[in-house]
Amino acid sequence: MNKNYIIPNEWSILEEGFDNDNVKASESIFSIGNGAMGQRANFEEDYSGSTLQGSYIGGIYYPDKTRVGWWKNGYPEYFAKVLNAPNWIGIHIKINDTLLDLNTCKVVDFKRELNMKEGWLSRSFKAILQTGEEINVTTKRFISVAFNEIGAIEYTINAVNFSGTIAYTPYIDAGIVNEDANYDEYFWEILEIHDGENAGCILSKTLKTEFLVATAMKVSFALNNKEIKLQQHTQKLEKKLDYTYQTKVSKGDTLTIFKYGTYVSSLNETPDNLVKKAFQNVEEAEKLGFHNLLETQKDAWQKIWNTSDIIIEGDVKAQQGIRFNIFQLNQTYMGTDARLNIGPKGFTGEKYGGSTYWDTEAYCIPFYMGTKDASVAKNLLLYRYNQLDKAIENAQKLGFTNGAALYPMVTMNGEECHNEWEITFEEIHRNGAMVYGIYNYVNYTQDFDYIPKYGLEVMIAIARFWYQRVNYSSVKNKYVILGVTGPNEYENNVNNNFYTNYLAKWCITYTVDCLNEVKHNYTDDFSRIIATTKLTAEEMYQWLNVADNMYLPYSEENQVYLQQEGFLDKEIIPVSQLPVSEKPINQKWSWDRILRSCYIKQADVLQGMFFFENKFSKEELERHFDFYEPITVHESSLSPCVHAILAASIDRTQKAYELYLRTARLDLDDYNHEVEEGCHITSMAGTWMSIVQGFGGMRVWEDGKLTFNPQIPKEWKSYSFKINFRGQIITVYKSQTTCKFYNEVGEEINLLEGNSKVK
Ligand code: BGC
Repeated sequence: MNKNYIIPNEWSILEEGFDNDNVKASESIFSIGNGAMGQRANFEEDYSGSTLQGSYIGGIYYPDKTRVGWWKNGYPEYFAKVLNAPNWIGIHIKINDTLLDLNTCKVVDFKRELNMKEGWLSRSFKAILQTGEEINVTTKRFISVAFNEIGAIEYTINAVNFSGTIAYTPYIDAGIVNEDANYDEYFWEILEIHDGENAGCILSKTLKTEFLVATAMKVSFALNNKEIKLQQHTQKLEKKLDYTYQTKVSKGDTLTIFKYGTYVSSLNETPDNLVKKAFQNVEEAEKLGFHNLLETQKDAWQKIWNTSDIIIEGDVKAQQGIRFNIFQLNQTYMGTDARLNIGPKGFTGEKYGGSTYWDTEAYCIPFYMGTKDASVAKNLLLYRYNQLDKAIENAQKLGFTNGAALYPMVTMNGEECHNEWEITFEEIHRNGAMVYGIYNYVNYTQDFDYIPKYGLEVMIAIARFWYQRVNYSSVKNKYVILGVTGPNEYENNVNNNFYTNYLAKWCITYTVDCLNEVKHNYTDDFSRIIATTKLTAEEMYQWLNVADNMYLPYSEENQVYLQQEGFLDKEIIPVSQLPVSEKPINQKWSWDRILRSCYIKQADVLQGMFFFENKFSKEELERHFDFYEPITVHESSLSPCVHAILAASIDRTQKAYELYLRTARLDLDDYNHEVEEGCHITSMAGTWMSIVQGFGGMRVWEDGKLTFNPQIPKEWKSYSFKINFRGQIITVYKSQTTCKFYNEVGEEINLLEGNSKVK
């Protein structure tokens, strides 16, 4: 474990004491957002130490030209960068002409809190400047959920031991850069800078993609809690607008600045309205005032928690972990805008670029289905439906024909924008997750209409891809899929990855089943789909022949499916025998050594068993878990949650608990030594699943029945979670001795007739 400084608390993430070494990690962990935009917990005041500045707007990106040593045909032209947007939080602060900079002054009693119940971030500390002045500082900041273009800051300085001058210089800085830039270039063009009375705005445009963003601020002041007006000194620089306000204070006085900020982008407004709307936003925010805005923030978060909270009694670290995961998922995606998706780092860092990975279908959909209205999960599915043409083009670029689709590994707008050959060309299992997402949604919601209306066209295009991607092996007398990378990215270019082959086979059969259903029950839709796709019965028989004869590598000796052909040639040494100094292997070993080793980055065969647990016996699950878990290093955040769920399925509750803590506290305790780069947002949905599907044992398979099989680790007194099941909010409560179910108004309901099935 790398870091262990976050103080356990049920509703807050807390840090006490100032340590420069933790600044970047805390910037990630204490990030705030509202689904439309978000930012790292950078300081408002100057900080000359190591920091990663980050403020991001959903859907605003830059297509950075692909830069690789050896170009391979089929590479996408660009890699989409999530863009660092103009900074509106900044305030330079001078005390008697000395700049406040926590890297150079003495910091005492530093406290930071991310209050997840109410959705705000605060800090308090005493700074002793080099020149001897002492100040107490308290700050509070939030990104409004109710008004999703607005953020607000309250920043108060108390003059402890001096009478003198305090100068606040709030600014908008559009001269920001991305840490991740291929050529260190600048991604924004400044179009206009508007100043005004205590308010200002910069209109800027992203290069290439030409998104327009108006960033505005408005400020007001209070001396000893009474509103005051201060003289404004405006400075317009090439890429920055700042206003300096200074005043004399006496020892003991407090001077507060309220700063309101907004982004208005061309995603939501016409270009000629952007600046006007941005000014309006901050004027209205200021009129409402910080404290009223904060009240609306508390109410908005209360509503979110009402349908999504998980309560764990008796284990504060576990409690803090799950709430942190639920909180960050909501900060990243609220489901209100069908153009947006859930980036692996959300609004907490730049890494990964793009916004959409297979993570959405494989991990995130269950969380949004379980905690929100079904329309949210449907939006996520429609996002892919709307990008079907691009997925077909993507497959065409790689030589596929006849409407076959390959969905991108990473995307912003449907185009592939990942450019490592072993992932772009080989990690084709992602295509299967698209179909699995639909299957999961239909089972859970029983909204079968989705299939004829939208899903089936996606499924047909994907079945066509699999049909063309296999080849017949006369040696095996089976169909094989060669040259792939499975979910375990510590293997490349392998043949017959079990997970990929199994998923391809399943995709085809599920598609044909759905085609039959639509043929009989949705005749008009069926005719339309057949007319657009030109699908013939002959083609379907050919697909089925492939599915029926798909090769799945199996070891008779170990009675397990093999991750890929030849897996047993590896030297199998459990992770427990690896010296601590060699972990994580992706930071300590050469790539070549990793590829030859048996170590598994993330669930691969077990990912398949997790998806299709109902198709394997408990003994099979146990055998596979015992074979693969000991050699899995979990160096992808997506891994421990799947293992936790499977461990619970085979009644290894304590193992599930160990894995649960790893997934729930992955970022808080920085298990993978990289939290500085941002949090692992998509895996947080896996954490939610490890409670609801893991300990709670909730399942909904093809028969549409909801079942539970709750168990509880010995460390917990009880836990409870809520799920939105077809519009009803059900609460599941499990203690060491009882298990109870409640309806929305808190009445106990009996789901345990015979077993725990409900209709
Ligand atoms: C994982 C992928 C995942 C990506 C984004 C990688 O480390 O191996 O499976 O899609 O991160 O979360």
